[in-house]
Amino acid sequence: MPDLTFIVAVIVFLFGLCLGSFLNVCIYRLPLGQSVVSPRSACPNCKAPISAWDNIPVLSWLLLRARCRHCGVHISARYAVVELLAALLFVAMFLTFGWSLATLKFCVFGFLILGLIFTDAETHLLPDKLTLPGIALGLLFSFFVPVDTLAARVFPFIAELPVSSDISARLFWFSDALLGAALGASFIYGAGVIYLRARGREGMGFGDVKLMAMVGAFLGVKATVLVIFSASLAGSLFGVGTMLIVWLKRTRRRMQVAKEPANVARKRAWESAVLVYRNFQVPFGVFLGSMALVAVFFGERVIQWYLGLYQ
Ligand SMILES: [Zn+2]
Repeated sequence: MPDLTFIVAVIVFLFGLCLGSFLNVCIYRLPLGQSVVSPRSACPNCKAPISAWDNIPVLSWLLLRARCRHCGVHISARYAVVELLAALLFVAMFLTFGWSLATLKFCVFGFLILGLIFTDAETHLLPDKLTLPGIALGLLFSFFVPVDTLAARVFPFIAELPVSSDISARLFWFSDALLGAALGASFIYGAGVIYLRARGREGMGFGDVKLMAMVGAFLGVKATVLVIFSASLAGSLFGVGTMLIVWLKRTRRRMQVAKEPANVARKRAWESAVLVYRNFQVPFGVFLGSMALVAVFFGERVIQWYLGLYQ
């Protein structure tokens, strides 16, 4: 007889698969400005409606071998990946936070972040229909799920208010969420302005600003700082890594195909790799979102470790 936690984890997993399936609809339709409620899902190629039988998360994609039943067009693996990730994320939240409002809060957060990561990766857009409700929900949850008490030092007057200690604790969590949202948004906005001045084109848009406001509202001040720094690091490593790979590939091609001498090939390949790097738009929302998910599970430990270093 399997224990209750296992049974609930399985239910949470199945629930995650279904919500992941709905998230796929959001990822496809929101950037196009279409409704996510109606009409029913159809093949983007032949427009044939997808039957319930062919719409089972992950399973249908596998059984149909990634093809539309009617026209045979290839269906992106993203559909199955998003469904599976949503399910695994939900189970991880349940196993981490147990039977609590925190589980609900972080499932909502994970759902929105996953949608934003994949929309940004595919379209370079971060739809308001995910970020704006996200900001509101993050602030709302801060009244019920502890965020952090850093705000106690910023707004000490809250402790003096003539309210019960329970209410003042909730006000501290809410102020931490509010500060986190303001900090996240203003940091990305500031970085975007500096980037625009330095490189003459937009690196981060208002979508990223709203995304970080949402992350701040859910995670509070400390985790927001952590997310910004780790995402910048991950984004830079990704950018530099891409440039080096392009450089190596093009050097080899120039030497083998164009028969250029090694030093000439290396120099010319470097010039074109720099050009690729300059014109390459890093979907920064992907890194911000991924690091925000990491911070849900490991943020507290990293922050404690970091603060411990400087005592
Ligand atoms: Zn089709």
